[in-house]
Amino acid sequence: MCLYPRLIRNRKYVPNKKNGGIVPEVKDKRVLSVPVGCGKCIECKKQKSREWQVRLQEDIRANQNAKFVTFTFSEHELEKLESEVKLEGYDRDNEVCRIAVRRFTERWRKKYKKTIRHWLVTELGSQNTERVHMHGLLWTDEPKAVIEEKWKYGKIWIGEYVNGKTISYIVKYINKVDKAHKEYNSKIFTSKGIGGNYMQRKDIERNKYSKGETIETYKTREGIELALPIYYRNHIYSDSEKELLWLEKLDKEVRYVDGVRVDIAESEEEYYKLLEVKRQKSKRLGYGDDAINWDLKNYENERRNLIKLDRMKKKYGLADEDERLVRLKNLIVN
Ligand SMILES: [Zn+2]
Repeated sequence: MCLYPRLIRNRKYVPNKKNGGIVPEVKDKRVLSVPVGCGKCIECKKQKSREWQVRLQEDIRANQNAKFVTFTFSEHELEKLESEVKLEGYDRDNEVCRIAVRRFTERWRKKYKKTIRHWLVTELGSQNTERVHMHGLLWTDEPKAVIEEKWKYGKIWIGEYVNGKTISYIVKYINKVDKAHKEYNSKIFTSKGIGGNYMQRKDIERNKYSKGETIETYKTREGIELALPIYYRNHIYSDSEKELLWLEKLDKEVRYVDGVRVDIAESEEEYYKLLEVKRQKSKRLGYGDDAINWDLKNYENERRNLIKLDRMKKKYGLADEDERLVRLKNLIVN
């Protein structure tokens, strides 16, 4: 569970377009609010990477032509793409990748008359130029040369095989703590329906709603049980079943913090104490919280801009006295 959970009003019980302004009857007041995660703490990031681990793992059972790929940008192509983007800092990196992936898939569709299934996650380089690149999977039987030609933005690498280990490796980029880029959030670009084949499998029957004893886990081939990804939950349970599951959970009066079970029947003191301990741990490891660290974000964005400038300088020999460079130097000194 998120270390910084917030309760928001359940939209189902607010007059809106979907319900035509007619609010359904509230049988239990506890359904009026729903918890939402912050998306940045260690728990949220781990959950996201576990969900993709399950979906990708599930997908390669059915679609065996997955290739493990790394897409990079050449200086020249990156520069061209960057010049189209009006954003700065990390937002620029992620936007460049979004455009590149979109164009790559368009080129593919044009040639093969069908879409290429893909799942890609961004990462910033760790060596001098720190150029953005992507790791992930492509489902295709086409050889490397064809993929590289369609990618066209730079070199690509293809792994020898794709298995559970490959997937564990690529999903790590989701919750990777990058010490040099703490405020950077990797972005995922993916086809729809990855892992959807689970919905056609017999295993799904064990997840069916059953009052008080619903099994809300996904069982791996090795027999390990993992939380059901939200993507599956949304397919399996109706809105009212999800509501019942939520109420059953509240009735149990237990909470989980970083895998530790806390009984809150008597009081919530223990829960809040543990939450504080785990928040400290999450911060220490470099994960974010519900607040935005603006100083660090600004600093890192400036640094990111400088790295871009540095790349340009190497290429065109720009003057050292660039205004931004001076600004950044001041920032570091202060
Ligand atoms: Zn969180």
